[in-house]
Amino acid sequence: MWVRFFVVHFSDREAGSQNMKKEHKKRMHYLDHAATTAVLPEAAAIACRVMTEQFGNPSSVHRMGIEASGMLETARKQVAAILSAAPSEVTFTSCGTEATATAIYGACRRKGRGKHIITTAIEHSATLNTVRQLEQEGFEVTYLQPDADGHIAVSDLRDAIRPDTVLLTCMLANNEVGTILPVKEFGKILKKKAPQALFHIDAVQGLARIPIKPKLWNADFISVSGHKIGAPKGIGALYIRKGVRIAPLMVGGGQERGMRPGTEATPNIAAFGEACRIRQEQLEDNYAKVEALCAQLEAGIAQRFPWAVYNGKHDMPHVVNVSFPGCKSEVLLRVLEMHEVYVSSGSACAKGKASHVLAAMQLGHERIDSALRISFAPSNTPEDVEVLLDALEEGTKRLRRE
Ligand code: PLP
Repeated sequence: MWVRFFVVHFSDREAGSQNMKKEHKKRMHYLDHAATTAVLPEAAAIACRVMTEQFGNPSSVHRMGIEASGMLETARKQVAAILSAAPSEVTFTSCGTEATATAIYGACRRKGRGKHIITTAIEHSATLNTVRQLEQEGFEVTYLQPDADGHIAVSDLRDAIRPDTVLLTCMLANNEVGTILPVKEFGKILKKKAPQALFHIDAVQGLARIPIKPKLWNADFISVSGHKIGAPKGIGALYIRKGVRIAPLMVGGGQERGMRPGTEATPNIAAFGEACRIRQEQLEDNYAKVEALCAQLEAGIAQRFPWAVYNGKHDMPHVVNVSFPGCKSEVLLRVLEMHEVYVSSGSACAKGKASHVLAAMQLGHERIDSALRISFAPSNTPEDVEVLLDALEEGTKRLRRE
């Protein structure tokens, strides 16, 4: 049946894409912002200027180098501001994954410490695959399990802490179901029960959406990424609390105070700084905008698909995960795409593999196979939501009939 569906719909799709080219400007409805975002025009303009005009190496001692170094420090201040941190606590990396790996390996490979790591079963693969590698090196890892809503219990962390715990690494906000982890309570308990342990928070999905508070959370490290907030791909940052010493992943030219050698990616860094500046200024307004879009989506789903089931109690309005039983998500995605609507079936990094997050929530195959993740940015409009709902209505009717 699916083969027939694909044959029919991909030929439809082919014809559809021809029509689309003819129509030229059918508007795109991109609702996959947890995967990545468009670069903000202001950030793109700065990146372009740095690439073509102000392209000096920040380590050069001539005027162009000094100018590049000044831009680097301006961006560092902008990123530090959105992280409520000091500029000296910000290290630029190539992405969120590298920031996370730097924190986890750095914390765990400190000499003479314990061999126990605590994380959760709903982390991004950047964390999960890093701790799995450490397991192979002899570390023991406790994976805290979520409940059916995608929440992690504070009491589970309390029970997991041991005298040899070296690191707690967990996310601030889940990229697939939008739950927020109780990082404030986690930090408090960790520092009380295991003062020797370090605390890393993967805040990639929280940055520019909710306030980041390293001091309040007792965080030693916080990873963030540019491409989720309107900066280009290929730039991230790691907050390292003042006084925390870890070894870098690589050695080289000593850039970033030795924590991340290699000539700094000044166009990306300047653009990341600018995106942080803009998004910090608009944080509250953007949150309200996205909250309204989310409410519109939920009202539409309640009215038009009362049989749909939400996956997780999303605390963030930016990420909504919902299953349409009877409709395989990969097929539904294709139908939506024919309407120029782009959502996803889960993490972009999982590339179509069944979601480990939904599996950890024990939701069952049917629900996992029919799950869609819809993720908003402030640039979305009520029209995007209406077009999505119409496309979903058409797609689900056809798929449920077949
Ligand atoms: N952590 C979370 C929660 C994410 O959603 C992502 C990206 O999807 C990452 C880490 C990895 O970030 P990057 O793509 O910058 O490596």
